[in-house]
Amino acid sequence: MTGESAKIIDGKAIAKKLRAEYHVRVERLRDQHGVTPGLAVILVGDSAASQSYVRSKIAGCREVGIRSELIELPATATEAQVLEQIERLNDDPQTHGILVQLPLPAQIRVASVLERISVAKDVDGFHLYNMGGLVTGSTVFSPCTPYGVQKILEHENIPVEGRNVVVVGASNIVGKPTALMLMQQDATVCICHKKTRDLGQFTLLADILVVAAGVPNLIVPQMVKTGAVVIDVGFNRLADGRIVGDVDFEGVRRKASYITPVPGGVGQMTVTMLLHNTILSAERAATATVSPFPLRTTA
Ligand code: NAD
Repeated sequence: MTGESAKIIDGKAIAKKLRAEYHVRVERLRDQHGVTPGLAVILVGDSAASQSYVRSKIAGCREVGIRSELIELPATATEAQVLEQIERLNDDPQTHGILVQLPLPAQIRVASVLERISVAKDVDGFHLYNMGGLVTGSTVFSPCTPYGVQKILEHENIPVEGRNVVVVGASNIVGKPTALMLMQQDATVCICHKKTRDLGQFTLLADILVVAAGVPNLIVPQMVKTGAVVIDVGFNRLADGRIVGDVDFEGVRRKASYITPVPGGVGQMTVTMLLHNTILSAERAATATVSPFPLRTTA
């Protein structure tokens, strides 16, 4: 124990600052090119959680001046119906970003849907081309949650190069891309998952510990090195309605040098990076005479 307490990273404040910058970029696009960035969101079914995520994405668009279009399909929709919408949006010059809210109903294959989205509009970064680009450091768009983690570290001037990074969680949307993106910044990276034996022996090595497992209280103080930076991506709703992360916040904050709270940490950044990617896509479309990303899986 240091007897001191970690700096609590205010994800909300970082997100607010970035969104103000993005608002300026949207105005510049409008003034200089007559272009308004557009995001299309496809929502299949009526899951309350998905509806809530979609609402916050659309509210984020409104805040920075992005035009949004919500396409709602019933839970019984076929894969062909979803693909038809994607094709229409791929060809619509006013749509710069296309997002399909996950999860999808069982009759629809997620991979075929994600791979039909034009890479140049894949603002979630889930197309196989973008996923592959993580390996070579050449994504067209970085996936939003890992990108949010990276932005938090950047904002707090926390160096990554040469540091030991341990990522707990190996999902395709959070753990793996976060590990690859931080490795691209020359960190020494270790990925742990639910089959990892003696998790603590790895987490104790971390200068920067990123936790994305979806298990409340998974990380307790004795698993954290004194002075570590702890980024908690976990988002868990307890039976009493409270939202907590994966880290024992009260215990670990006494040992870490920086820590993100839940809520109010990484969660605020995910939608913000989606807004960023949509604006970036519109900027590319407005300034490029030929698309730098001609790849289409549907040609
Ligand atoms: P997931 O269920 O797809 O993957 C969880 C990963 O954690 C798996 O690799 C699994 O092996 C690992 N894991 C599970 N139990 C473990 C244990 N006991 N020890 C070590 N590893 C363990 O989940 P996901 O989609 O990657 O999300 C992870 C968490 O992050 C969830 O709480 C989710 O709600 C949250 N999340 C937050 C945001 C955000 O914007 N803040 C975005 C996405 C996900």
